[in-house]
Amino acid sequence: MAPQPHTAATPAANTAFRSALDVVRAVEPRIAAAIGQEIDDQRASLKLIASENYASPAVLLTMGNWLSDKYAEGTAGRRFYAGCRNVDTVETVAAEHARALFGADHAYVQPHSGIDANLTAFWAVLSQRVESPALERAKVRNVNDLTEADWAELRRELGNQRMLGMSLDTGGHLTHGFRPNISGKMFDQRSYGTDPATGLIDYDALRATAREFRPLILVAGYSAYPRRIDFRRMREIADEVGATLMVDMAHFAGLVAGKVFTGDEDPVAHAHIVTTTTHKSLRGPRGGMVLCAEELAEHVDRGCPLVLGGPLPHVMAAKAVAFAEARRPEFRDYAQRVVDNARALAEGLLRRGGTLVTGGTDNHLVLVDVSGHGLTGRQAEAALLDSGIVTNRNSVPGDPNGAWYTSGVRIGTPALTTRGLGTAEMDGIAGLIDTVLRAATPATTAAGTPSRAQYVLDPAVAEGVAERAADLLAGFPLYPGVDLA
Ligand code: PLP
Repeated sequence: MAPQPHTAATPAANTAFRSALDVVRAVEPRIAAAIGQEIDDQRASLKLIASENYASPAVLLTMGNWLSDKYAEGTAGRRFYAGCRNVDTVETVAAEHARALFGADHAYVQPHSGIDANLTAFWAVLSQRVESPALERAKVRNVNDLTEADWAELRRELGNQRMLGMSLDTGGHLTHGFRPNISGKMFDQRSYGTDPATGLIDYDALRATAREFRPLILVAGYSAYPRRIDFRRMREIADEVGATLMVDMAHFAGLVAGKVFTGDEDPVAHAHIVTTTTHKSLRGPRGGMVLCAEELAEHVDRGCPLVLGGPLPHVMAAKAVAFAEARRPEFRDYAQRVVDNARALAEGLLRRGGTLVTGGTDNHLVLVDVSGHGLTGRQAEAALLDSGIVTNRNSVPGDPNGAWYTSGVRIGTPALTTRGLGTAEMDGIAGLIDTVLRAATPATTAAGTPSRAQYVLDPAVAEGVAERAADLLAGFPLYPGVDLA
């Protein structure tokens, strides 16, 4: 018998979804309609957004209940609110699964998102390495006991630390010290990039920058780098310059959990502190998490009240369910298929003459440079969307079109792999993408120059590709068993 798809709903789960919608409809029908429409839209789209996935019915159903009503500031067994015994269970079980899944000393499952997890981690490191020594020097236990002068000095010190992270155009994330994000306002930041010839991280150049800049925190991890990272080397560099190594594995946590990334590629084995989202390749609810070595645990656990308010107990419960799912043997198979599919997609694009940053992939994503087609990333993204293919535009290294128009399109396989598509389908998808990119052309502006936003695409091409995409998806039902009609 063929294995049940991860998104398959039992009759009981279907009744639960239907009943929930009926209840919502009676209060605000527009919201019930939007929820119903969303499953139709998701079923109909060829979702290649590298940061999205499909959570199981068990994960989705775990979030819709009264756990949401509870305030539970603090940590399990040490709350600032009464009546938290069930939230204690939820948080303890989620952390227990997370530690076992990733082989971590400590897991903090409260962050509401990846950005919160990163903020928690930054402040945990500042607390450990800047605040605690200042309290010791002043011979006090708490910041409230510092003199006004010592407090002013500590605030100055906290606001004057250095961070080294991957540059945005080579795949880093805004939260790794860039000015539009609070991390860029908090830290004096410098970036490392990739070798222009290969597109790969240049560890020697990174080491030289680290030696000169001497960051407090070295951040590894990315949103749009199609290759693996040698975290052992990253740790050596961090140790050499006295930095704390923080890895943001938001994108590839599923590949770590699924044991595709092991040894030198396992961030948990090498970093002092690791952050992640739980909803991307890890396939859980929307949320964040911090994993760390024992010596950072007490600092990480102060995420609330440092940068978080009360935790979301219903989401922590769904994290526990998702982690339990990821501990099953099938998840390893899933993670391997995500990578196999990305490679097949890359090969299919390359065979058709596509240009890929780094020339390929060995993780879950492919970054296509569309400038050879005369398009910006924005035009390519929109033309693909017109044709039923959902991707997102992304900068390529040294991008002349900046972060808004860009010259690239990021394509990821976690979602379609959950849906059951395999390497044969990936080659077909590469063909569809290639057809659209070849057919689309930039529109001409009133000044007679090529537009960076508008484009021309023969509707017959868009319709033809959309039909072929729909045919492809028809063989892989999403949330089979969910019938809201
Ligand atoms: N870190 C990385 C590497 C990401 O790619 C993202 C989101 O795309 C985040 C952090 C932020 O996650 P969230 O959207 O859950 O705040």
